[in-house]
Amino acid sequence: MNCNLDIRGIFCNRTLNLNAIRAIGYDMDYTLVHYRMRSWEQRAYNYIKEGLRQAGWPLDALVFGNSEWSYAEPIMSYAFDPFLPKSLKWRDLFDIIIMGARKPDFFTFPMPVFEVVNAEGLLRQHRGPLSPGHVYLGANAQLVEESLGLSGEELMYVGDHIFTDVNISKSISRWRTALVVRELEDEIAAVDQFKPRHAELSALMESKEQMASQYCSLRLAALRSQQGYETRDGATIQELQRKMSELHGRIVEIDSRIAPIAQASGQLLNKNWGLLMRTGIDKSHLARQIESNADIYTARVSNFLHVTPFAFLRSSRGSLPHDPECLPAVYSQK
Ligand SMILES: [Mg+2]
Repeated sequence: MNCNLDIRGIFCNRTLNLNAIRAIGYDMDYTLVHYRMRSWEQRAYNYIKEGLRQAGWPLDALVFGNSEWSYAEPIMSYAFDPFLPKSLKWRDLFDIIIMGARKPDFFTFPMPVFEVVNAEGLLRQHRGPLSPGHVYLGANAQLVEESLGLSGEELMYVGDHIFTDVNISKSISRWRTALVVRELEDEIAAVDQFKPRHAELSALMESKEQMASQYCSLRLAALRSQQGYETRDGATIQELQRKMSELHGRIVEIDSRIAPIAQASGQLLNKNWGLLMRTGIDKSHLARQIESNADIYTARVSNFLHVTPFAFLRSSRGSLPHDPECLPAVYSQK
């Protein structure tokens, strides 16, 4: 992908010291395993639809739950095992594996625990702490903390779902959170490619704001003149009106140059709803949710390879509307 910006970066909403994290939990679908979205979803949709049709169900809604062993095992083997040394299987990469976690209930209820005791997925009820090297079904966040002897801030959960993965884990268990946003790479590249036009748009908007501010001052002076007050430079009402008319023409002209760039900016990445993280010059609803729930976010789990487990991921200084760099030109010049 041709992009000058770091599409494989890890972006920080809140400073996170990876060195202080003692355990990392990973979601599976769309977090550890990525799919060719269109063909994968289409196949899954057709398969489920056919199953429901044969069972005589109406076909209005499909709901996919958290992965069960019979699904997760073959997918993880397919995605990981061919790329590991022969002596390793995907299961060796994790201390404890929990399937069918039923998030978000996993974080809020003391869900029962079963151990998966053989390759066919036979279950046995389990009591007591979770042990490394075993596969479980169900369980809950409190049991994970007790089994590992760790408290919330020592655990980081990495997932792709804004609600079930990062919102609940942070608000209920106070775990540190990382969100995988696969679309981020395309978003960053699209913004990067649009940079020259965005600079043009900003310059035009700045000129327009200055002209609009000038127009407002002239309008006020004209009103004062009409009421019999003296204007500051002694301009007559005719002079003021002539200047206003000239400025108005220039504003209309600049608007016609702004409109196509603003429209193209709103159609970046997707011609119907534009960028994922922005709405015009504002943050999108999704961006605000990510900001409040995910400590860090990135496009792929593998991006952590570049930062090592000891990284101090520092958030940048947040901006506020009254910060000098955020003020419109007309205000910041005063
Ligand atoms: Mg997922």
